[in-house]
This record gives sequence, C-alpha cells and structure tokens, in this order.
Amino acid sequence: MTAPVAAGARAWAAPGRVNLIGEHTDYNDGFVLPIALPQRTVATVEPLSGEPLSGEPRWVVTSAGHPDTMVVTVADLRPGGVTGWAAYVAGVIWALREAGVDVPAARLSIESDVPMGAGLSSSAALECAVLSALCDLAGTDLPIAQRPAIAQRAENIYVGVPCGIMDQTASIRCQAGHALFLDCRSGQVEQVPFDPASAGLALLVIDSRTPHQHTENEYAQRRAACEAAAAALGVPALRDVDDLDAALARLDDDVTRRRVRHVVTENERVLSTVEALRAGDWPAVGRLFTASHASMRDDYEITVPTVDLAVEVALRAGALGARMTGGGFGGCVLALVAETAVETVRSAVAEAYAAAGYASPTSFEARASAGAHRLASVP
Ligand code: ADP
Ligand code: MG
Repeated sequence: MTAPVAAGARAWAAPGRVNLIGEHTDYNDGFVLPIALPQRTVATVEPLSGEPLSGEPRWVVTSAGHPDTMVVTVADLRPGGVTGWAAYVAGVIWALREAGVDVPAARLSIESDVPMGAGLSSSAALECAVLSALCDLAGTDLPIAQRPAIAQRAENIYVGVPCGIMDQTASIRCQAGHALFLDCRSGQVEQVPFDPASAGLALLVIDSRTPHQHTENEYAQRRAACEAAAAALGVPALRDVDDLDAALARLDDDVTRRRVRHVVTENERVLSTVEALRAGDWPAVGRLFTASHASMRDDYEITVPTVDLAVEVALRAGALGARMTGGGFGGCVLALVAETAVETVRSAVAEAYAAAGYASPTSFEARASAGAHRLASVP
C-alpha cells in the first residue's frame, strides 16, 4: 500500500559498495578502487509543514523494517544527540548545517536492500541517500566533490565511527560499468571501465557471514602502527614511501615491517589493477586480487579462517583471483570467475563451509552500478 505523496516529495537512491582492491590504504593517504553495487538505499523526502516546534525545523524519520518513528529536533543536532540507526540521518542533517546548508524541515522515509553490517557499506548508502535528497530539497548547489566529506563527518563525528572517505565517495561518485579509482589524499577520482561480463566473467561476492569481532581495537592498532612507521621513516604517510626495501631496512620491528609492506605493496597493486583493467588484462586482475589477499593474511593479519577458506576454495575451483574485501576480521570475499564456473565456485565454497562447520555462505554477482541519483518517480 502506498501513502499519498505530498507535493515536493523526491526520492534519491545511493548504493552500497564493494572495494575491488586497496585495503587499509585509505588512512595511509593511498589508493582504493571501489564499485557501487546494485543494492541501494532510497531516501524519500518531503517538506514538512505544520506545527513546527517553536518555529524551528524538525525531521521525522522512518526506515522500513525499523518500527520506530524518530523525530530529530535542532536540539539533537550535536554529536551524540541521537543514537541508534537514526544517528546516521541526524548526523547528515548536522553535518550539512555545519557546511552552511539550510536544511528544510522534512519527513524522510528510508528503504534499503543493502545488507547491514556485511561490509557492503549500508551506512554510507544511508548517509548518501539522505544527504543527496536533502540537498535536492534545500536547492543547494553544494558541489558533488564536497559531498562525500560531509557524509563522512556525519559518520566520524556524529555517529562516532572512524571510517575513511572511500565509502561515501563510492556511494556518491561511482558510475555504472566503472570502478572508481580514488586518491584518498587529494580526493581526485577517475572512472575506470569495469565490465567483467564483457569478457565472459563475473564478480562473485561471497559473504563469509562471520560476525566482526574486536574490529575496532584491531583497526586502531593497525592505524597507529602505520602512523608510527610513517613518523619513524620521516614521511607524511606511508603512501610516500618510494623505496620499500630501504624503508624496511630502517625499521627494526618485524610486525611494523610487515604492516608497512602490506600498505606499500597494496597501493602498488591498486595502480597495477587500474592498468590491467584499462588493458583488459583480466588474468592480471585476478593475480593482483590473490596477491592482495596473501598480503592481508600474512603481513597485515586481518583475515580470519572463514575468509581464507573461501578464497582458497574459490581459487581451487577455478577463480582467476580471489580476495577478502573490506576492513577484515570477517565480511565478504570477491572472486573473479568465468561465468561458466560461477555455480562450481559457489557450491565448492558452500561444501567447504559445511565440512568445516561454518554457517552457510551467501553470495551474489556484483555489477558495477550507478552512484547516487534522483529517481524519476517517488516509490
Ligand atoms: P555496513 O556499513 O558495513 O553495512 P555499519 O555497521 O557501518 O555496517 O552500518 C550498519 C548500521 O547502519 C546499521 O546497524 C544501522 O544502524 C545503520 N543503517 C544502515 N542502513 C540502514 C537502514 N536502511 N535503515 C536504518 N539504519 C540503517
Ligand atoms: Mg559502514
């Protein structure tokens, strides 16, 4: 059943994302290469009139599947003012106002098919759908290039999650049929054609269904190790290490050396993947994926047995390459697979999981989809 739509309502879709390669490079000022997923969050906004609280705007927010209706007032627009899922929405309103956008009072309805907490960035999809819809409602000409940082501030400061800039940039700036080559230092983006189907291939996303554990602590430790190493090497960030061997020779602790080696080689792998994609060299892309996984497993130590098993089995079943994607300690695995081998890979991983006593993995084929856009009609 659809409710009557008020005049001035509009709907914006913003996608989840998956990172093809470039893990833990973002906070080292490095490179990442995400694609937007077909799964997306839709924010429908309509101007809210009548009974404003003491003349101030307010925002009435609902999300399908969440029973509560949240009301956000101006008094709530301080970090921590709203908690729970609605914090992502309140955070965007707060960050937009901080950026000088006069956000009109509105009713917001959220719907999404991005799996939550699977590492596919339902949080950025939510922020970016809300941000895009509210910018449209406000009639602001806030440049696209500045929007991801505003959504990121909402998550970093208002919600209190220390994420990098990739997720929001991907959700806003990706284009269908392309991967987004993002330089996390400058914010510069380049669209790189990504259409595995044109070569008879598929990008399989396998959810290991492993709950992330101790992630915050591990993330903070990795970040601190990178910052300490950059300081010891006298560079602003590990992105600036030009001569890896010379840098490794200057570090005396084995763990730090391996952390540095991951970041420096992972940045190189992103650049090589961009080149391989431009050249249509899919076997090279596959090899880079697999090398990236080995680096995350052995040097950065952010994989877990479930994801290692999915990668190993996918490769054995014929994948051109496979790797964990996302921050680690669970989440999803990407496998680049011939269309004809998709079912073989899927069932091989499912069987291996069953044999190991792991929860049955889910998977889907990802197509590189469009970033945030206005829908022609309101759902
Ligand atoms: P991920 O971004 O990997 O999916 P996060 O933990 O960063 O995982 O974000 C998930 C959280 O974002 C959810 O727990 C919820 O609070 C919020 N969220 C995401 N999408 C929605 C939605 N459609 N409706 C309500 N809350 C959402
Ligand atoms: Mg998230």
